[in-house]
Amino acid sequence: MATQRCAGKTALVTGGARGLGAAQCRLLAREGAKVAIADIDTQAGQALATEIAQAGGAARAYALDVTDEAAWDKTVAAVLADFGGLDILINNAGIARIASAEDCTLADWRAVMSINLDGVFLGTRAGIRAMKTRGGGSIINMSSIYGIVGDSVTAAYNASKGGVRNFTKSAALHCAKSGYGIRVNSVHPSFIMTDMVTGAAACLPDPEGFLKDIIARHPIGRLCEPEDVAYACLYLACDETRNQTGIEIVVDGGYIAQ
Ligand code: NAD
Repeated sequence: MATQRCAGKTALVTGGARGLGAAQCRLLAREGAKVAIADIDTQAGQALATEIAQAGGAARAYALDVTDEAAWDKTVAAVLADFGGLDILINNAGIARIASAEDCTLADWRAVMSINLDGVFLGTRAGIRAMKTRGGGSIINMSSIYGIVGDSVTAAYNASKGGVRNFTKSAALHCAKSGYGIRVNSVHPSFIMTDMVTGAAACLPDPEGFLKDIIARHPIGRLCEPEDVAYACLYLACDETRNQTGIEIVVDGGYIAQ
């Protein structure tokens, strides 16, 4: 049930067209936010914007590659012009590659770093510049439990998400000390069955065994759903968390508590 926790706010979600980002866009719109869906997949972004509008919400799709510095300026300017401000930014776009520290190619390493870490840096910087003149905002960076613990076959992904985790704290401290009223926090999901995970599983010799294995690693006995992560983002997006900055919210069914 919607409670309008984001009424009057504008949110930009990168990688918002599909997967976890799409769930964030739907929930923020249900809670009253005007939503900018920023993604390289403009067709899916447009389809989601239409779906949200048909459900009574406000959303627009924007073409954004998060690795493109100039495109960030253009997109944020367009969102400010279309919606009149920016209050919530979720740097959610990300990719994964299955490769160990011994086997990872430099091309894969750079692809992961470029989207997962450069993209979050460029987004956070653009968000700070847009929000500081308005007296505040909430920036939420999508890390992972793999930004906290390692896995032998996700070397670049672990490095990028660990980078997001601590970059977020640096940005949070900068904004707090500057008196901008901008909070910067990170969210750390475990495995969720989006295209990212099903695509990675398909590269493994035993995808069904992999699925059984990851469920077994969740003490709560089930995998998380995209909406579980969206609710953590909603919590950080709201003014209710005005004193929370530089924190990590883990959404993992107890995975890393063991
Ligand atoms: P997904 O592959 O289902 O969706 C990713 C979205 O990002 C897609 O819409 C894609 O078009 C978009 N995207 C990819 N590259 C982009 C770019 N350069 N610029 C803009 N958009 C781009 O992935 P997901 O599972 O929804 O993952 C979303 C985020 O959550 C990622 O940062 C991921 O690392 C993180 N995460 C996912 C899981 C999981 O199990 N699914 C777990 C922990 C963290």
